[in-house]
Amino acid sequence: MPSAPYDFDLFVIGGGSGGVRCARIAAGHGARVGVAEERFWGGTCVNVGCVPKKLLVQAGEYGGWADDAAGFGWEIRKGPHNWENLIAAKDKEINRLTGIYRRLLESAGAMVFEARAVFIDPHTLDVGGKRITAERIVIAVGGNPVRPAIPGAELGIVSDAAFYLPVMPKRVAVVGSGYIAVEFAGIFAALGAQVDLVYRQPLPLRGFDQDVREAMAEALKDQGVSQHPGCTPLTIQERDGGKHLALSDGSSLDVDLVFFATGRNPLTAALGLEKAGVAVNKDGAVIVDNARRTSQKHIFAIGDVTDRINLTPFAIAEGHAVADTLFGENPRSVSLANVASAVFTTPPVASVGMTEEDAAATGPVDIYVAKFTPMRHTLSGRTRKTMMKLVVDQKTQKVLGAHMLGEDAAEIMQGLAIALVMGATKADFDRTIGIHPTAAEEFVTMRTRTRVSGVAQAAE
Ligand code: NDP
Repeated sequence: MPSAPYDFDLFVIGGGSGGVRCARIAAGHGARVGVAEERFWGGTCVNVGCVPKKLLVQAGEYGGWADDAAGFGWEIRKGPHNWENLIAAKDKEINRLTGIYRRLLESAGAMVFEARAVFIDPHTLDVGGKRITAERIVIAVGGNPVRPAIPGAELGIVSDAAFYLPVMPKRVAVVGSGYIAVEFAGIFAALGAQVDLVYRQPLPLRGFDQDVREAMAEALKDQGVSQHPGCTPLTIQERDGGKHLALSDGSSLDVDLVFFATGRNPLTAALGLEKAGVAVNKDGAVIVDNARRTSQKHIFAIGDVTDRINLTPFAIAEGHAVADTLFGENPRSVSLANVASAVFTTPPVASVGMTEEDAAATGPVDIYVAKFTPMRHTLSGRTRKTMMKLVVDQKTQKVLGAHMLGEDAAEIMQGLAIALVMGATKADFDRTIGIHPTAAEEFVTMRTRTRVSGVAQAAE
């Protein structure tokens, strides 16, 4: 549909994973597309998130494997780890990827702006000092890590800086116990640091299944991470060339680095949303409907800026759906249900579907749990446990949730996610033949119910 009065049919603010996908697909459908990115193409995930994080996790794993090898007859002498070399190799790969992201946009025919975009009115943006109009606009600006408001907070870092540390710290205090906190606690521990994890809950990973949380606390302990549950940071001071972190339980930590992994905020504060008439919630997240439409019907928002499911593949799916809906004659939405995710600790956690707690609140559920030492570690001697769990609706026998902490959990869970999306029952799992010997086969061989959870709902 022509939109002659406007410079663009679609303008995307933010060149992260979601924004780039949306712009690229819309341009492919023939729309005149502009996209602005003020910092780095590929956004958080590619530059200071998922991708470099996983490379750091993999760096840490080599150390463990070198130790494990003796149990298999190898004499491997582990030398010191060179952090500078790792960061340089990581930077090279990230530069390659960000270049690809920009080129993808250009080859799709989108016009790229390396500038900040701010609303002037509902159809007009200031893009690096230039006035640009668009018929439709997609907000895909993501979020930013935040620090708690405590004295000396500026002496700690947030995740963005963790990827560019000039030297590997020897003593690290990580604050928080969400995805970023436990992942980086694992990275620093695997690379040889002494790590303290300070969190205010009794167990890490609030919101995850209770068995996963317990298994995570145990895995962190096995990895040598000192945990301080039920604790919040009070102050940070410079002391003896390091940082002195006072905690709410009266104790304190002297470390080289304090790392705040205390959540992320949507980056909406300076976007001029009020001039566009776009409503945000109390946390500054853009409010959207099922079609990712904001309070202005021609303005859409996707990804972390909406603060619903803050995961890259979800933002990409949303961006693609918006582009197909607006320009591809294929109106569609993206379901919030059964979105699998993983936490890249060592070993990792992966989950899809409901936790036992959430499922039990809806009616009785059959719970199957398996815990075992992975085969590799019967010889390696390393203390490592795998935990696998299925949550099954007692009435329909549909598998409502699958959870795992253990090696390859993320790789295994992707396949299980398909089964859950398709509505597989426990009987479907049971008639599937396992691949032996694997950990994954446990998911299709759990025959003995561990317990029943939740209350029977009153008959209607
Ligand atoms: P999360 O929201 O997951 O966790 C924040 C953590 O900080 C929680 O443990 C929270 O405690 C704690 N916290 C918050 N405020 C304070 C405070 N004032 N004092 C002490 N502790 C505090 O955020 P993350 O920063 O870990 O990650 C942000 C999002 O990014 C994730 O939710 C996830 O969606 C995404 N992400 C996904 C990854 C993946 O897929 N592997 C990896 C990294 C990030 P409490 O639980 O008590 O609230």
